Amino acid sequence: MRDTTTFRLIERISNLLRSEERKKYVTLGLQPVHFQLLDYLTRCNQFSNTPVVAAEYLGLTKGTVSQSIQMLERKNYLLKLPDLKDRRVTHLQITPQGEQLLKNSRPIDAFINATEEIYNQSFTHIDDGLNAILLALQKANNAKSFGTCHTCINFINMDDHYLCNLTQQPLDKTDSIKICREHRLNPTILNTPT
Ligand code: SF4
Repeated sequence: MRDTTTFRLIERISNLLRSEERKKYVTLGLQPVHFQLLDYLTRCNQFSNTPVVAAEYLGLTKGTVSQSIQMLERKNYLLKLPDLKDRRVTHLQITPQGEQLLKNSRPIDAFINATEEIYNQSFTHIDDGLNAILLALQKANNAKSFGTCHTCINFINMDDHYLCNLTQQPLDKTDSIKICREHRLNPTILNTPT
């Protein structure tokens, strides 16, 4: 069976960034769909910036897109402009405020901050680099590590008998490779395979 560690690390980094993104949306009273729509408008051309095409691209109903447009227009994040040749057609245009909102909400800043501290390190395997990024992101966001048991500071291995020092419960070999919400990385271990 192929090793899925790389995939899992990428998935966890992605989930963490998405979760940080969602927190920002909530504080702004907006939803992911609003940002998807604004993001689309920064990338599409003048033939594709209509509500119908946006709904098609985002895989959403016209009704959902219409409600999002109303909300974003009210908050001055986008403008509705009539087509110069066909007044029945409406074009959408992101405003400077909308562009600023998008810029401030992207999780890229969290990613850059997290990667700064590992910037000068070298890794022999992609998983080591991804793992270091994941750990830095978790630290920056006070997120639980959910690492594997055998890499935890509370994991005790005595003559191939395992014990959790936190709960004082015996662990078997299967337990030792499972992830745990109470995991705290043992700093003497470089890698925390997921
Ligand atoms: S706290 Fe969780 S991860 Fe750490 S040793 Fe105990 S069971 Fe394992």
